[in-house]
Amino acid sequence: MPDSTAASTEHMWAFAIVWTSLFLLAYFTPTIIGKIRGHHNLLGIAMLNLFAGWTVVGWIIAIIWAVTRPATPQPQVSVFTGQQSPEASAACLKCGFLVRSGMDFCPKCGGQIATPGAR
Ligand SMILES: [Zn+2]
Repeated sequence: MPDSTAASTEHMWAFAIVWTSLFLLAYFTPTIIGKIRGHHNLLGIAMLNLFAGWTVVGWIIAIIWAVTRPATPQPQVSVFTGQQSPEASAACLKCGFLVRSGMDFCPKCGGQIATPGAR
């Protein structure tokens, strides 16, 4: 029966395509999960998945990496500005001697201290 053979071949192809698709879907599950979760290191997961996924260990590491989301690193907002804060020092109005802010009179000449901002 030639008809039966043709149908069988067709089925074989259908099965091959379906199973290949399922295999690829399963193979790239870590990358897909990473993509869905918006993982910050999606490229790293995809690379690991692609190149090491055929080793079962690589695939497991990739999927663990994809499902774990490490705490987003807090950007360092408070940058140390050094000793140049304007409140750190004030200048004497008379002689220009630099003193610590908070002092009212110059220790050198007794003149008034220009206190920036305050008061
Ligand atoms: Zn002074």
